[in-house]
Amino acid sequence: MFYDKKESVITPPAIDFQDRSTKKRFNLWMTKSNLLQIRLISALTGILYMIAALINSLVVSGDILGLMITIHLYVMPPFLFLISLMTYKKELYRLFIFLLMLSPVVATIGNLLITSKVEDPALYMTELYLIIFWIFTVSGLRLWQATISALTTVVVIFLVTYFFFSLSLESFVMHCFWMLASFSFGFLVAYLLEKSHKEVFSTHEQLTQLAMTDTLTGLYNRAKLDELLQDELNRSKYLHQPFGLAIMDIDHFKKINDSYGHQVGDTILKEIGKLITEELRSTDKVIRWGGEEFLILYRETDKKEVLKRIETLRLHIEKHLFPISTMITASFGLTLYTKDDTIDSIIQRADNALYLAKNNGRNCTEFI
Ligand code: GH3
Ligand code: MG
Ligand code: MG
Repeated sequence: MFYDKKESVITPPAIDFQDRSTKKRFNLWMTKSNLLQIRLISALTGILYMIAALINSLVVSGDILGLMITIHLYVMPPFLFLISLMTYKKELYRLFIFLLMLSPVVATIGNLLITSKVEDPALYMTELYLIIFWIFTVSGLRLWQATISALTTVVVIFLVTYFFFSLSLESFVMHCFWMLASFSFGFLVAYLLEKSHKEVFSTHEQLTQLAMTDTLTGLYNRAKLDELLQDELNRSKYLHQPFGLAIMDIDHFKKINDSYGHQVGDTILKEIGKLITEELRSTDKVIRWGGEEFLILYRETDKKEVLKRIETLRLHIEKHLFPISTMITASFGLTLYTKDDTIDSIIQRADNALYLAKNNGRNCTEFI
């Protein structure tokens, strides 16, 4: 987060899609939002193929009917319904995406088999252009997946119609033009969709970060506490490494507000936030826990080390020159993770320790 002093607002950082963890989160987010689309579109396309088979059986006669029924009823619908069902199993994600990319190629080969045998190919070739458009705009495939699938489809169509179809020059040129049109329209729409997905994702990420940021100090706020603390509890349980939790409370802060005004109080809170951050390692976390209370998580530490580090911070605050003549100090309540701790139990212990520190004259640290 970036705190702009002049504007007094927190500006969330721009989302960088080159960053690996952002990319990973974006992919996960897209996967979730595409799942329902893939499920419904595959099922609907299967149903439309069945309707096509019904129409074929009503209006087509002769040998070709058998082939049409095979492709429109026995090949495409089961293939697409299978993909639709597979979306209920997230662990099959790679497989059903592969099948989804493959399905237009299968549909294309089926269509070309039919088209090569009917008297009026133009009547059935329309499906080929629709397939290309479907891949990009309807299927639910990501841009790169759709591009690979559509390119394969176009190459198959081009080669088969060029070498095995006896189209007139005019028909062949127009056929290529319609392929170009459906490919370019489809690609452009898919590109714009992916771009707008990225914009929505960026806004979502920034809003999430803002919701977890304290606007005064730029530190994490209470909303982030459960997530951070639960992560730390899980880590410690799994790795058998304790962590330290300290609650820091500024001494007699009410008097500072009363003597110098709320605005000066705010400035001091911001400065104290910076002082704490300066003393932390990258794995430690600080949260503005309440008005003038801060909660600090010290990862992979023991009692001796964490007490030493808190002492350094306590002296840092005590010696810091704030823009007021009164000395500012803080009290600390510290505890270490113990087996079977929960979020509530560990905070309660740190709070009890803080209570002791206040009772013992303030500007000190107590450990429970
Ligand atoms: P103690 O040493 O016992 O902690 O005394 P204290 O005066 O610090 O404790 P108390 O909890 O009674 O008062 C905390 C004060 O912090 C009260 C409130 O006015 C002030 N405060 C809380 N949030 C803010 C804030 O965002 N800005 C400013 N300027 N003051 C705040
Ligand atoms: Mg307080
Ligand atoms: Mg206080």
